[in-house]
Amino acid sequence: MSCLFCKIVEGEIPSSPVYLDDVCYAFADIHPQAPTHILLISRRHVASLAETDAEDAGLLGRLLAAAAKIARDKGLVHGYRVVINTGADGGQTVGHLHLHILGGRPLAWPPG
Ligand code: AMP
Ligand code: ZN
Repeated sequence: MSCLFCKIVEGEIPSSPVYLDDVCYAFADIHPQAPTHILLISRRHVASLAETDAEDAGLLGRLLAAAAKIARDKGLVHGYRVVINTGADGGQTVGHLHLHILGGRPLAWPPG
């Protein structure tokens, strides 16, 4: 398996984990774009949100619920943003489903 985030889940590539359970793994982004910038990924390899359908509703729900828990645990009481870059136009650079959890400063809208 040549996938970067699969290697992180397997521990072949080091990461700084912040949360894990049976389906999710979360770790600090190596190039943080905000004071808090966490990547939350599916342990199972899924290439992108575009590859999911209704059969993945359980996984997607678990990821969103984990994102909210992580944000609470990180004390992001003033708010935060959850982003899923998808495909080339969406700015996705790693082909393994991941959610960005960004917070700790006001975030501009619209994004670039
Ligand atoms: P995206 O552009 O949405 O595909 O996001 C990929 C993210 O992975 C970027 O924010 C990168 O900074 C982050 N990233 C790439 N390699 C690593 C790594 N080894 N450890 C932690 N984060 C990484
Ligand atoms: Zn993968």
